[in-house]
Amino acid sequence: MARQGIVYIVGAGPGRPDLITIRGLDAIKQADCIITDRLASHGLLRHARPDAEVIYAPKGIGHASIAQSRINELMIQRAMEGKVVVRLKGGDPSVFARTAEELAALLTAGIPFQIIPGVTAAAGAAAYAGIMLTDRRFASQVVFVTGHQAEDKHEGQIDWSKLANLDGTIVLYMAARNLKQIAGHLLAKGLAGSTPVAIIVNATLPTQKVIRCRLDQIRGMFSENELEPPAIIIIGQVAGADPRLEWSCRLPLSGRAILITRDQQGNSELASIIEDNGGRAIAFETVRTRPLPIIATIAKLSSYDWIVFTSRRGVGSFFEQLHVSDMDARALGRAHVAAIGPATYQALMQFGIKADLVPQQYTTIALARALIESADLRGRRILLIRSELADERLESALKAAGGSVEQVAAYTSEPVNGDPTAIVNMLRSGQVDWVTFASSYQARVFFQQIEPQLVNSNSRVASIGPQTSAELARLGVRVDLEAGTHTIEGLVQAIIQAN
Ligand code: SAH
Repeated sequence: MARQGIVYIVGAGPGRPDLITIRGLDAIKQADCIITDRLASHGLLRHARPDAEVIYAPKGIGHASIAQSRINELMIQRAMEGKVVVRLKGGDPSVFARTAEELAALLTAGIPFQIIPGVTAAAGAAAYAGIMLTDRRFASQVVFVTGHQAEDKHEGQIDWSKLANLDGTIVLYMAARNLKQIAGHLLAKGLAGSTPVAIIVNATLPTQKVIRCRLDQIRGMFSENELEPPAIIIIGQVAGADPRLEWSCRLPLSGRAILITRDQQGNSELASIIEDNGGRAIAFETVRTRPLPIIATIAKLSSYDWIVFTSRRGVGSFFEQLHVSDMDARALGRAHVAAIGPATYQALMQFGIKADLVPQQYTTIALARALIESADLRGRRILLIRSELADERLESALKAAGGSVEQVAAYTSEPVNGDPTAIVNMLRSGQVDWVTFASSYQARVFFQQIEPQLVNSNSRVASIGPQTSAELARLGVRVDLEAGTHTIEGLVQAIIQAN
């Protein structure tokens, strides 16, 4: 019998990809087909299977919109082919999401379904603005209202007079464009002009903005279309309870935009550290890495006294190829292992290798020094697992100490020629606070596409260590900061301190 399909209606949460539920994420990981709306975080799609079909289905006004009936059709078709379908929706599926129509269609077609809840935008916005929706000192009821209908023919559906007399908390969805009218309705029906209002734009995201005011100030606050959706508007005494509870604006990189210039994996790691600290990461992919064959080296691994890894990427490529050759960590035999820094050390740990040596400073020079100090290298066979682009300094230093050194390129990095227009525009308009560089090669590729002057005059530059700084200087770039600890975490810490 053919496998039976199923549709999971999944709430993606309010914005930040990691605010989805565990069960929702599990469904994404399993899915054969994902149909996603505009507000569901794109970051979540990283967890999809590589072979999953992803259908982007934005709805709403003014966008390349897709008809609801077409979405229903797609879900049903795929499920009938026996597929696991995830219908991914921003926030929670039961709140202003037209899920009822989708469920009716599934019922009619006899397709099994499950609904996985999500954090609705009101809850996300309230949490990140530090507003307790039913703080019992001020409110014993809360109402979710769509602001979408305020100016169109359905105006009658919302009883503004009832809302004005609610004596509780009003949360408006889809109200950014109509906020003035709505404030007008509420004032006209008797809600006090002094009622506190909090407007939370891009809630939970690095671009979040919280605007606090009184109800009677809204009219004069925004020009037409100035308030860009998505926004949640919280109206009521709770919105003014205690602005000090807005913890998210006190994160160390809150309000800072930081351009990151590594490969895809490196950028996503760096972005998550920046975002955990409240900053906004803007990714520009400079290079792509590709493993190189090292079969010949693998065959004689057990003959080395030291095997030295100078990057996490090198560890990954090395073990990938070891596994392809049907071998594992045991192939390293009695060799000692050195790692350039903590990330490389951790990567080795994942393959069951506890490195014997990590230098105090995470540079190739410090690594050479540490190796030379730790053992008599005369006559020792040393294997360096490196990038094709690595320079010769480590090799020469170890050779000078009497080691018999072999260097093998386990991977190479190739430049990516993306479209820099968006980045150029952001730099030009002063939207980028920091541009970061984690390697000299990546810096070189970046400045092949972007004028150094553009960065020098619009942004500050942070470098991970001396080698990268030297390359930047050579390219004519002013280095404002060099990380004291030459790791990605060290780079972010240095930026936090310089802020
Ligand atoms: N099902 C969704 C709501 C979809 S309607 C939920 O439960 O959250 C779309 C509206 O949700 C937007 O107009 C806005 O009012 C709100 N919204 C969604 N994401 C938001 C975000 N990150 N910040 C502020 N408001 C958001």
